[in-house]
Amino acid sequence: MSASSGKKQEYVFRGIAVAPGVAHGKVCLLARAEPDVPSYPVDEDQVDAEIGRFESAIMSTRQQITNLRTEVSSKLSESEAQIFDAHLLVLEDKALIEETVSEIRSSLYNVELCFNRVAQRYIEFFSNIEDNYIKERANDIRDVTRRLLKNLAGEDHHDLEGLTEAGIVVAPDISPSEAALFDKDKVLAVVSEHGGATGHAVIMARSMGIPAIVNLWKATSRIPAGSEVLVDGYEGTLVLNPTSDTLFRYGEIQVRKDSIRRVFLSELEKPSETLDGQGVTLFANIESADDMKRIRESGARGIGLFRSEGLYLKSNDFPSEEEQYEEYVKVVKGMAGMPVIIRTLDLGGDKVLPKAMIGLEENNPFMGFRAIRFCLKHKEIFKVQLRALLRASAQGDLKIIYPMISGLAELLEANLLLEEAKEELRQKEQAFDEHVEVGTMIEVPSAVQVAADLAHHSDFFSIGTNDLTQYMLAVDRVNDEVAHLYNPAHPAVVRSMKIVIDAANVAKIPVGICGEIAGESIYTPLLLGLGLRELSVTPVTLPEIRYIVRRMDVGDMERLAKQVLECSDPDRIQNILQDFLTEKIEPHIKEALAKLKAGE
Ligand code: PEP
Ligand code: MG
Repeated sequence: MSASSGKKQEYVFRGIAVAPGVAHGKVCLLARAEPDVPSYPVDEDQVDAEIGRFESAIMSTRQQITNLRTEVSSKLSESEAQIFDAHLLVLEDKALIEETVSEIRSSLYNVELCFNRVAQRYIEFFSNIEDNYIKERANDIRDVTRRLLKNLAGEDHHDLEGLTEAGIVVAPDISPSEAALFDKDKVLAVVSEHGGATGHAVIMARSMGIPAIVNLWKATSRIPAGSEVLVDGYEGTLVLNPTSDTLFRYGEIQVRKDSIRRVFLSELEKPSETLDGQGVTLFANIESADDMKRIRESGARGIGLFRSEGLYLKSNDFPSEEEQYEEYVKVVKGMAGMPVIIRTLDLGGDKVLPKAMIGLEENNPFMGFRAIRFCLKHKEIFKVQLRALLRASAQGDLKIIYPMISGLAELLEANLLLEEAKEELRQKEQAFDEHVEVGTMIEVPSAVQVAADLAHHSDFFSIGTNDLTQYMLAVDRVNDEVAHLYNPAHPAVVRSMKIVIDAANVAKIPVGICGEIAGESIYTPLLLGLGLRELSVTPVTLPEIRYIVRRMDVGDMERLAKQVLECSDPDRIQNILQDFLTEKIEPHIKEALAKLKAGE
């Protein structure tokens, strides 16, 4: 932590940078089922205000419980409602209230901490008494404590829907369904205590251009709601109460980043080809049909991955064939004749739709009932989507891709269902592209091993390195305990990509990549050196990738790939890649920035 002069002390917290950008604003703590207990000192002259907060939280808690009691009494029975009488008694417990007040006065800490301390003492005391009736009292106190803490937070805590003004969301974790509801104008940045760099919520934030940090230890208890913070999504730091010096310094960083971006954007209309004239197709990854104009403006020459489950998560239900058809047509038309690859439903893992997972408690959801596995079990849900996709294929260059294929049998079964869906449309005389291309995502290690077989039954491949990395290295992509082990530069991942590319080349089918590393500049030379000519990337990074492609020589990149394929140390691979990029690109950027400064 660092400190500097100023009214409030400045603190610097570190997490992992997962989505670039800098944001400055007020903290909005995302409320959770379990309330957080913030802990911060208060000045002597703030003690009365803390006690005031306590009193008004007691009042609103009492009101809530009374309302609940009335509701339960009318909908259930008076005896069910009496449980709340016990809760109301807790709120009238003089000892609990007075002890909390004196704890605030003596410790000079905030009310949440003091109240929770006192309440936990009572809970422990009652829990240890060998009398079931008295033990029950511990539960009453626990329940009321939770409710009161939530109300204390209520002044400043919001859930996303309650986010009325722009702010920086700080949360224990963010789910993809929450991220799907992000309003880019309101959510200036996202900071979470948990999660990995390729969790789907992070991917969504990145694609919306929202800076994000994950793995910021105890963020929700250390960063007070409503406080002023600066979030640096490049370095993974959060500055609480930034001083004017810090804001100035970050202002300069932002100016430099903006200038570099202008350099990248200046080449949007130039061909995406290497120095020796080899074309590289740059596609975009998208999560919804909104904002197609922005996607086209990024310079994307098509959509390499449309994660269709966004539609399901947003509505929290299974959209009808018509709703899906409209969404897909919007994308196809939005891309005005360019190719659009739409992935069939990839629910499961960190993307849960409660309705879809009824009665299912999975210990390892990423290894469980996910993606094509779900679709092959729920054939009707799958076929609704297939029909919508097929019908949309009549409107432009639409291709279909299946996620998480782990072997030939799944691919063949999915293709069979696709044939059935086609037949159903023929019966109804509904138009679709009879020759719609169907691809396979290669993102499971077993699929790598049988890539040659899969290639015979696929029109194209797309390598999903986000999952390939997690499954190949057995590192859950959203588990912060093992985030340090998640490394797409691991030789096992790099060599797998080579196997897949070779298999596709032998079968003469196109192969692309749509994992997040396709949009990370450090990997661009390696991916091209391995032979890939189609990269599907997060739209915000697309201009940068194009700039890099245009400054690379295929021979150099093939030598780089050969060196990397022979290397067995992931850290060394990272260094090799970083050095290569710096050597080839840094001088160009320096020169371009100098020209920009000189006003050329
Ligand atoms: C991948 O796994 O690399 C991929 C692109 O799919 P997702 O991130 O949606 O799992
Ligand atoms: Mg995947």
